[in-house]
Amino acid sequence: MSKETQPRSCDCYLLEGACMIGKIDQNIKNIVNAINRYPGVETTGSCGGHRHPQITSQKPENEFYVQIDICDENGVPTKEGWNSLGKLSQAIMNYSIATFGAGEIVIEFCNLAEQDDDENGSCNYIEMHGKDVDRNVLFDAITIRLES
Ligand SMILES: [Zn+2]
Repeated sequence: MSKETQPRSCDCYLLEGACMIGKIDQNIKNIVNAINRYPGVETTGSCGGHRHPQITSQKPENEFYVQIDICDENGVPTKEGWNSLGKLSQAIMNYSIATFGAGEIVIEFCNLAEQDDDENGSCNYIEMHGKDVDRNVLFDAITIRLES
């Protein structure tokens, strides 16, 4: 699965690398759009959660994930991207403060090179996973941190 063939900002696509639905779930759309406003950041997949998940990449209703790419076209993370990732981390911290730590947000660092024979796909990407998160508060935290 090379980076070029991955659909951009496409929901629920991680089934055999195929695009299943092709649009962002309504219940995560504003958070995905807010993340994409950070410089050097591009979301490459997401799922906002479903009452009845149909495929393995779909999350249950109380969970979500957003896959984030901070690399340039050569698969190298950009300075801008790292900087934005730091700001996103601070936004998550502010979310925890605002909600007294309600729910759970985890950021995972994944290395595509380990699952990919294509040398061009050696980009590191990041996934934000949420469970029982107040999405309105998270959206505000992400937006406020970008504008501050
Ligand atoms: Zn979904």
